[in-house]
Amino acid sequence: MQHTVSPVGIVRSCFKEKFAIPRQPQLAPAARGVLELLPPFDQGDAVDGLEQVSHVWLLFLFHQALEEKPRLKVRPPRLGGNKSMGVFATRATHRPNGIGQSVVRLEGVEPGRLLLSGIDLLDGTPVLDIKPYVPYADTVADARNQMASQPPVAIAVQWGDAALAQAREHTLRLGQPVADLIEQCLAQDPRPAYQVPTPERVYGVKFWDVQVRWHYPQAQVIRVLEVVLA
Ligand code: SAM
Repeated sequence: MQHTVSPVGIVRSCFKEKFAIPRQPQLAPAARGVLELLPPFDQGDAVDGLEQVSHVWLLFLFHQALEEKPRLKVRPPRLGGNKSMGVFATRATHRPNGIGQSVVRLEGVEPGRLLLSGIDLLDGTPVLDIKPYVPYADTVADARNQMASQPPVAIAVQWGDAALAQAREHTLRLGQPVADLIEQCLAQDPRPAYQVPTPERVYGVKFWDVQVRWHYPQAQVIRVLEVVLA
């Protein structure tokens, strides 16, 4: 059976590239975005009642990871990228129909727009459906997952003096928690697990319209070097 789906909206996100996006939602509460609804859902009627809900499930398309050939096994970054597992045992982005799902906090509801936080979605992500989180049904007290039993271990994030001042300026300019976003995302250690960083190697990523650069002065420590307009 073939069935055509079309997006109900597009996410405008703080994340402008895949690198350094947390592996799951809720890991960076300062990660914000707006879901802009598309016609005919861009009217108040479509979101009527949603103001009574704190979180929503988003079903979306991994639009920057779509592939022609289905994979049976994938190498999840969580396992260092060197162990393969059945595609249905993982939340990897390479999926049969390219569908992702995230529970995100609903910060505000407006006709045609949902304000979101705690997202793990790339800018431009097409959203296929939105459903209210239902705590009694969606919270499973005795659930277990032996491959992902704990959240990722956070590493220390230190600020260079100039970098912190720059991040605070961009926080004020954008009206967004830029400094918190940087701390929360870098604490997840975005570096590919197989890479052993040297202190000389500088990493970078774009959040909103700013370029963040950092290095690893020692193992398990990140130092933010600068936060400048991209
Ligand atoms: N919570 C979702 C799930 O479980 O289906 C996504 C989990 S997936 C492991 C999270 C990663 O997806 C992020 O780190 C980011 O790099 C990637 N990602 C987010 N939006 C994407 C998009 N539109 N296209 C491709 N990759 C995306």
